[in-house]
Amino acid sequence: MLSTMQDDQLSLAHLLQYGARLHANAEVATWTGSGTRKSTFAQVGKRSAQLAHALRSLGVTGDQRVGTFMWNNTEHLECYMAIPAMGAVLHTLNIRLFPEQLVYVANHAEDHVVIVDGSLIPLFAKQLPEMRTVKHVVVANGDPASLEAPSGVTVHSYEELLSSQPETFDWPEIDERSAAAMCYTSGTTGDPKGVLYSHRSIWLHSMQICMSNTMRLSDEDRALVIVPMFHAMSWGMPYAGFMVGASMVLPDPVLQPGPIAEILAAEKPTFAGAVPTIWQGLLQHLDANPQDISHLREVVVGGSAAPPAMMHAFEERYNVPVLHAWGMTETSPMGSVARPPAEATGKEAWEYRYTQGRFPATVKARLVDDDGNEVPWDGESVGELEVKGPWIAGSYYGGADPDKFHDGWLRTGDVGKITPDGYLTLTDRAKDVIKSGGEWVSSVDLENAVMAHPAVAEAAVIGVPDQKWDERPLVAVVVREGQQVTAEELREFLTGKVAKWQLPENWTFVDEIPKTSVGKFDKKRLRSAHADGKLDVTHF
Ligand code: ADP
Repeated sequence: MLSTMQDDQLSLAHLLQYGARLHANAEVATWTGSGTRKSTFAQVGKRSAQLAHALRSLGVTGDQRVGTFMWNNTEHLECYMAIPAMGAVLHTLNIRLFPEQLVYVANHAEDHVVIVDGSLIPLFAKQLPEMRTVKHVVVANGDPASLEAPSGVTVHSYEELLSSQPETFDWPEIDERSAAAMCYTSGTTGDPKGVLYSHRSIWLHSMQICMSNTMRLSDEDRALVIVPMFHAMSWGMPYAGFMVGASMVLPDPVLQPGPIAEILAAEKPTFAGAVPTIWQGLLQHLDANPQDISHLREVVVGGSAAPPAMMHAFEERYNVPVLHAWGMTETSPMGSVARPPAEATGKEAWEYRYTQGRFPATVKARLVDDDGNEVPWDGESVGELEVKGPWIAGSYYGGADPDKFHDGWLRTGDVGKITPDGYLTLTDRAKDVIKSGGEWVSSVDLENAVMAHPAVAEAAVIGVPDQKWDERPLVAVVVREGQQVTAEELREFLTGKVAKWQLPENWTFVDEIPKTSVGKFDKKRLRSAHADGKLDVTHF
């Protein structure tokens, strides 16, 4: 028996019109370096219509890919809304990809138009001649004359293109399963792989972001969107914001602790999201330059494990709760969020909050061992996490890397355990696990334990070859400015906090942990620095 319900399509064209009309006055504030330039959802709606007309005039008539090479700003938000709403596909190009990878993804996606921030022209111009399918480049916030176009490519000014266009657009009916946006994985191994989000997946994901068991985004929020819009759809915040009328503060190119602190002081956001390295940097900055940030009702941290010491510091020193979440480009990206069950209090609640979180109803999860057998959710048994759901990728664009999928599940490459009540704790990435004498050592546990030391700014743990045990952990430590600590003291500090056989005997002090394009610890580079003998290692 079929239902009698309407089969109305979940399209971003409707989301755009809805936000622009029913949340017309919600604000979009883009940081200028000393203040903000302001727009509203109503204005974003009108300018999105103008952008859609402009793109039509450049030959975007169907599902052509329109790339963006941009920071977090109003114009990028207009691209986020207009491009999918007109039936084309938004392709957010990661400005920090290696040049050859950038060229690879633009060619692989067959981008027809690329919209570029003026400040990024020098970076983009070098790769443009190799982007074979790009016919038009549109320069936002900058001078198009400063971009020398190769033959066959026309350069336009964003503002000039938009200025003469009508402020309404006849948005098409769109099949909710068609592609709305695409994002390539950062490609730490092999070529980047394309994930294609649908109108439906983005819509459902946005609803979940606003729900009480995850980020609780609402029209009472002013969300500081630090996660780059060129990475994992900025964790879905732009679309979720449009759905509920949450105002947005967009930092443009700012990712440094000092300027972020200035934005916090000037704009008093209620909510923010970023990877742990950003929060860790901000914490150090605030400790040296105290400032009231209690206007933040909550901040979400994900992308890598949130060190518990950092979560405590924000809550206890700055009155800002830190919400830990897990996800990946392939999961839109929200996969799980660490809100404790209502009945948990005190230390028990904290134990829940340290985890990578509980799965929402739409994310199915299972753990699988090396032989492909499912392992129980008993909070102890470890396996590779596999997930399934309406906003989880079922394949990569063009069928790349089919081994990442089986039986309709996505193999995440993350290794961990799940409690009977559905809280995930990741112990590692499959490629980062350390196997010592046949036993797994969790690099994440060790990192968290070391980072709990007050003199430690950052710590990353990798496995290094060992004659007796095959592999042993090596801890790379960055000491906080003005502080001192020795490897002996840190080893002593860990005693009693981690199992004795896990106590690392290899330590190195570095000025900085190498980071990936999105600010996560780059363990691949750390491992090769060690292999090349570039690290000065203290061995016990
Ligand atoms: P990349 O693989 O380039 O880092 P993603 O941003 O898609 O690109 O990264 C997803 C991965 O990040 C996950 O598979 C997981 O390994 C890691 N990750 C994300 N959130 C967390 C978290 N809260 N704790 C630990 N690891 C996390």
